Amino acid sequence: MIVSKDFILNLERKKSLEDVFQVVREIIDRVKRDGDKALLEITNEIDGVDLKYIRVPEEEFDKAYDVVEDPVIDALELAKENISNFHSITSVDRDIRLDFDHMILGKKYTPINSAGIYIPGGRASYPSTALMAGIPAKIAGVKRLVACTPPNKEGRVNALTLVACDIVEFDEVYAVGGAQAISALAYGTETIERVDKIAGPGNKYVTAAKLLVQNDVAIDMPAGPSEILVIADETANTEFIAYDVCAQLEHDPSSIAVVLCTTEKLAKEIETRVGDLANEQMSSNFYTCVADIDTAIAISNSFAPEHLTMVFEGAEDRIDEIENAGSVFIGNHSPVASGDYASGTNHILPTSGYAKIYSGLSVETFLKHITYQMIKPEGLKMIGHAIMKLAEAEGLPFHKKSVKVRLKEDPKGGDSG
Ligand code: NAD
Repeated sequence: MIVSKDFILNLERKKSLEDVFQVVREIIDRVKRDGDKALLEITNEIDGVDLKYIRVPEEEFDKAYDVVEDPVIDALELAKENISNFHSITSVDRDIRLDFDHMILGKKYTPINSAGIYIPGGRASYPSTALMAGIPAKIAGVKRLVACTPPNKEGRVNALTLVACDIVEFDEVYAVGGAQAISALAYGTETIERVDKIAGPGNKYVTAAKLLVQNDVAIDMPAGPSEILVIADETANTEFIAYDVCAQLEHDPSSIAVVLCTTEKLAKEIETRVGDLANEQMSSNFYTCVADIDTAIAISNSFAPEHLTMVFEGAEDRIDEIENAGSVFIGNHSPVASGDYASGTNHILPTSGYAKIYSGLSVETFLKHITYQMIKPEGLKMIGHAIMKLAEAEGLPFHKKSVKVRLKEDPKGGDSG
């Protein structure tokens, strides 16, 4: 459907989350109250599955290798190498110590102690997510790395997901999905020990649960149903765009795709191509709009899409104008699937406009920094007057005195009152 710029900007992308908050809150409370018992019951009620186990036993990993074909394992290994390289090289994990004459100031990074990764597994399975979240967590140095993922119809975890978890060296893997998994990771059950931070994407139930528990546990970001916004001119290959659009729409009935085209002819051509590929439900979440490149970039910055594809003349020179997006794909030969799987950038990205305030997952997701200082007596003399003046102005006498007492102690130090 060709729509107006205002229609795109007013799409209610957070509504699908708001619609499920009530049911998700009830699931979270049940798990908080009844622990493992609730996990077993809710999995049976929602997923229609009797779990074989909550924690995946060791022998399941060996069995998984028997059923996964070698070329698929090779593909995981190649993806692992590229993800590891990109994330190590781009990490800002740099301890800094500044040795000034009068003081030492520093900043040092430490990892989050324990992290729980949500690996989706409802409509499709996502072994790629085990790599995308697990590898940065390992590079950061997370000590306890656990995964939760929904069970398949046999009450077990998908074999390829297990192989991916094994390749990354997760410490524990649990066969629990949805809001119940997020609650278990946030509050703990008899089997699942709580974690310090929850990361990873999921559908609207998972994302709503992460938003609801974030008072009690850190989360990475709201990374919900997938989105793509494409900016295209006549240099774009419309067949490639149609496949990229369908690739994101196939994730979830709540996924959204928008293509901003420089001409109506182009918009109609892309609509026809998507119409030929997509089913009715996918097509209902697909919109086109006619806009020149400057306007399209402005719309995209307001929309803040999870994935932004730029296929127009000179696109690579306009990257600095992009203010809000999860990840950007430039030119005809950069399918979003390359970032989803194997180029090395991360596929766990903010959705629903949250790219305005959150970044995609990275090594920093699992790090925090500590600043430190050692002030020398001469250093305190240099800044003491300012500290005491500001403490006085704020009405905090002990702050002032904590400096004054030290300056007095130093025979060379002045008493500035
Ligand atoms: P999922 O694991 O996210 O969700 C499956 C679980 O949802 C089920 O186990 C069940 O517990 C729960 N659920 C389903 N229906 C429910 C209901 N009616 N009431 C309560 N709970 C219910 O798997 P999925 O559904 O395949 O979704 C994967 C999602 O992850 C998609 O939306 C996809 O677009 C998204 N994704 C996002 C990113 C990102 O970075 N933003 C990356 C990859 C995937």
